[in-house]
Amino acid sequence: MNNSPFPTLFSPLKVGTQVLKNRAIMGSMHLRLETMDRPLQRQAMFYAERARQGVGLMVTGGFAPCEQGLLEDDGPLLATQVQADALRTITEAVHAEGGRILLQILHAGRYARIASAVAPSAIASPIHRTMPRELSAEEIEIIIEDFVRCAELATSAGFDGVEVMGSEGYLLNQFTVTRTNQRNDAWGGSVENRQRLPVEIVRRMRQRLGADFLIMFRISALDLVEGGADAHEVIQLAQAIEAAGADILNTGIGWHEARIPTIAYVVPRAVWRFAAARIKRAVLIPLVTSNRINMPEVAEAILASGDADLVSMARPFLADPAFMAKAEAGRADEINTCIACNQACLDYIFSDRPATCLVNPRAGQELTFSEIKPASARYRVAVVGAGVAGLSCAVTAAEQGHQVILFEAAEIIGGQINYARQIPGKQEFNELLRYFRRRLEVLGVNVQLGCKVTAEQLIADKFDRIVIATGVFPRVPAISGITHAKVVSYVDVLSGRVVPGQRVVIIGAGGIGFDVAEFLCHSPTEVMAITPDPVAEFFTKWGVNTSPDAHGGLQAAVLAPARRHITLVQRKPGKPGRTLGLTTGWALKMSLQRYGVEMFSGCHYETIDDAGLHLTVDNQARVLAADTIVLCAGQESERGLFDALCAKGVTSVLIGGAEAAGELDALRAIDQGMRCALSL
Ligand code: NAP
Ligand code: SF4
Repeated sequence: MNNSPFPTLFSPLKVGTQVLKNRAIMGSMHLRLETMDRPLQRQAMFYAERARQGVGLMVTGGFAPCEQGLLEDDGPLLATQVQADALRTITEAVHAEGGRILLQILHAGRYARIASAVAPSAIASPIHRTMPRELSAEEIEIIIEDFVRCAELATSAGFDGVEVMGSEGYLLNQFTVTRTNQRNDAWGGSVENRQRLPVEIVRRMRQRLGADFLIMFRISALDLVEGGADAHEVIQLAQAIEAAGADILNTGIGWHEARIPTIAYVVPRAVWRFAAARIKRAVLIPLVTSNRINMPEVAEAILASGDADLVSMARPFLADPAFMAKAEAGRADEINTCIACNQACLDYIFSDRPATCLVNPRAGQELTFSEIKPASARYRVAVVGAGVAGLSCAVTAAEQGHQVILFEAAEIIGGQINYARQIPGKQEFNELLRYFRRRLEVLGVNVQLGCKVTAEQLIADKFDRIVIATGVFPRVPAISGITHAKVVSYVDVLSGRVVPGQRVVIIGAGGIGFDVAEFLCHSPTEVMAITPDPVAEFFTKWGVNTSPDAHGGLQAAVLAPARRHITLVQRKPGKPGRTLGLTTGWALKMSLQRYGVEMFSGCHYETIDDAGLHLTVDNQARVLAADTIVLCAGQESERGLFDALCAKGVTSVLIGGAEAAGELDALRAIDQGMRCALSL
C-alpha cells in the first residue's frame, strides 16, 4: 500500500499484459470536439492535459466501425487507414504525457439518427422513432469484421486498445435482450444466441490482435427498460466475454430510452455499485464501476470494499483535469467537483455544441485558454459580489497574480447558489461553494464578507481595476394585489424565512419555479438531505429493483404523497418546462407530474386577494385558491453600484446577473467571470 490518502485508488493494477498506474479510468464521453475545425489538436490538448495530471487510462468518445453504425451523419468513424493515421496526433500527445488511451468502438444500431439505421429486429426506439431495418445474417458477419478491422486500425493509430461498447442500448445491447431482438435465427431466441454477437466480436478481436492489445468490454449491468436482461443473463454474458478474451469489463447503467435518471444530480452518489458488484463476484478479470462517482473518497470506498477493481469517471475529469493529481497530493478539498448538472456537457452535445463544463469553462477549450499563467502586469483588483460570476473572476484574477479584494454584502459567499443548493437533489452545489472557498484561501484573496462597499470607498482605495458582480434581485411583477400578505418570493421560501401553507400557487414556470415546486413537494427532512437512506428512497421513487431476478432492474415506482397542493402558472402558451435542461428537465417534469402538481400555461393574471390568484386561462376566469403565492418570475439586475461609479466617471466592468439578468445561469456567470479576469 502507498501513503496516499486514497491507497486503493492509487494502487497499480495489472490488466492483460499491462500495468495501470492507478484505479481510475476517464470514461468515454462524446465531446463533439471530433467534428470541430481543428479537431485533432483540440482533442489532443484535452486528453494530454488529463494524462499529464495523472489519469492512468482514458477512453475516447465512440467511433463507429462502419457508416451504418454512425450516431449521426458526419459522426466519428474509424473505417480507413487515412482516418487511423489522423488519430495519431491524439495517441502521441497522450503517450508523451505517460498516459494510456483506448478507442471506443460504438455501433449505434437503432439509436442512429441516420436514414440507414439497422437493428436486430425492425423495432423503432421511443426516442428516435425512425424505423431501423432488420439486419440479415450475412450483414451481421460483416459487422463483426467491421469491429475487428476498426480495432486493427486503432492499433495502427497507436491506441493501447479498444473499448467495445455493449451497453446503454446501442447495437450490441440491442442484440442481447428480447425487447429489441425478436429474431429466430442463430442471432436471436435463446440467451446464448442473443449474446452471440458481442461474444464473437471479442473472440475474433483477441485472435487477430494478440495478447498485448487491451480489450475492454462495456457491459450493460442494468438495462432499466422493460424487456431488459436480469442479473443472471448479465453474469452469463460477462463470463462469456471473459472467456472470449476481454481484459477488462466496464459497466454501463440504463439505456438512453430509460425513464430513470442514471447520472443527473438527482441520482445519489455511487448508487449503482450494487449492479457492478454482482458481476465482479462472477468474473476474474478486473471490473469497472461507473456513474455518479465524483470525489476520490467515493471512489476509494467502492474500491476498498471490493465491489469493483477500477472506477470510471467521465464528467469529473471535464470539471477538473487535475482531479487525480490533487487527490494523490492530499488536496482533495481543492478538486473542482462535477455537480452532475449536465448543462454544459450532455445538454451542449445534444444541441450540437462542443462539450465544456459549467464549473470549468476551460474544458474542451484548452487550445484557446491554455493553463492560466501569471499576467505580465499585476493589478490591485476589486471584485464586488461573491456570487459565482464574482467568485470565478476573483479566483482567475488571483491565479494570474493580481492582488484581489472580493467584497460581499452577505455573510457567506455564493449568491443565488445558496438558494439552488436547498433544492432536493441539488446538494452537489455545496461542492461548488466548497471549491471556491478553498481556492480563495489557497490564493490568498482578501475576502470582505458582510461588506456593502460603496462607490466612494472603491474610489478612495484607488483600485487599478473594478469588477461589478452584484447579481440580481427577484422581479416583482405588476399584478393587482401583489403586495398582499400571502405573496412571497422564492428567496423567502428557499432561505427558510417563510414556510408556505398547504395550498401554494407559483407564478413563473422557469427553472426556479420548477425547483421551488419540487422543494415544496418534499418533507422538511428530505429537504435538509437527512433522510436515513437516500439510495433506498431513490430506488423506491424511480422504480429500481435490486433483485437479480428483476428483468431490466425494474419495479413499480412508489412516490410519497406531495406535502402540499401546488399549482404552477405561466403566461406563455405551450407546455411549461421548455427552458429546463435537455437531459435533466424530463426527470424534474416527471417528478412534479407524479406528485400531482397542476400546471397552467397561457395565463392572464387579474388580481390577488384573500381567495388566491384570479386569472384567465383559455378565456375562462378562474380563482386558484392559495394560502401562499410564491413569485418565481425571473430577476432584475442589481446595478446601483455600477451606476454610482459611472456617475462619478469611474470605469468598471459589469459581469454576471448584474450585466444581464434574463436567462442568467451559473454556466454563463462562471464563464463570463473567467473571461473577464483574463482580459483585465
Ligand atoms: P426564467 O427561467 O427566465 O423564468 C422566469 C419565469 O417567470 C418564466 O416562467 C416567465 O414566464 C415568468 N415571468 C417573467 N416575467 C414575468 C412577469 N413580469 N410577470 C409574471 N411572470 C413573469 O427564470 P428563473 O426561473 O428565475 O431562472 C433563472 C435562471 O436560472 C434561468 O436561466 C434558468 O434557466 C436557470 N435555472 C435553471 C434551472 C433548471 O434548469 N432546472 C433551475 C433553476 C434555475 P411567462 O413570461 O410565460 O409568465
Ligand atoms: Fe459535471 Fe455539469 Fe460540468 Fe457536466 S457541466 S461535467 S455535469 S459540472
